[in-house]
Amino acid sequence: MSQQAAGPQGRPSAPRPYTLRRSRRARRITVRVDPDRGLIVTIPARGTVAEAERALRELDGWIAPRVAALEDRRRRAADSAALGLPYLGRVLELRPEPGRSRVRRDGDALLVPEDAAQRGAALTAWYRARARAEAAPRLEAAVAAIGARYSRLRITDTRTRWGSCSSTGTISLSWRLVLAPEACLDYVVWHEACHLVHPHHGPTFWALLQEHVPDYREPSAWLRARGTDLRLLIPA
Ligand SMILES: [Zn+2]
Repeated sequence: MSQQAAGPQGRPSAPRPYTLRRSRRARRITVRVDPDRGLIVTIPARGTVAEAERALRELDGWIAPRVAALEDRRRRAADSAALGLPYLGRVLELRPEPGRSRVRRDGDALLVPEDAAQRGAALTAWYRARARAEAAPRLEAAVAAIGARYSRLRITDTRTRWGSCSSTGTISLSWRLVLAPEACLDYVVWHEACHLVHPHHGPTFWALLQEHVPDYREPSAWLRARGTDLRLLIPA
């Protein structure tokens, strides 16, 4: 029998903080570094914490640089959020006000709750409302231009998808899109609107999108490259 360093509960100590998930579908232990949730270990239904922590130690060489990169991105996001938050390509300065519970925009400033704990939720609510206000007319225009119909616009909190289009014609858009430059919001609205006509990523889909958004590659590349950093700006 081998001996291992024991943690406070008498089990081997984990090398770093992590979230443990149990999955009935998991056949083996998997480890990933999620941009929003950090280090996640998924174990099968009958897996043990000791097994999870053993996997963490064995994979630490793979984990360490990824966690360091994520922490670096979070730090940069927090630094830039202290200066202001992006809104469709502008930067709105954050002005904490005593007694304020909701966010209000005043020119190039956002008046926000003084209490940091309230601020995240208040900002999310404000950005969410703005996302609907900005996306709805764009979607109406896009849908009218291509002669399609949609049933509903949903503003979502999805972290891994900017938008989607269901078979029943519901267009879903992440509120975080208004943190991106305006061209990115336009691109995703058009992308999903084109799915109303072509529910796939075949050549006819891209041809229709290109017809209406000739330079769509630029915002698409921007979202791929910088999207994760956007998601870190307002921790929910
Ligand atoms: Zn698509």
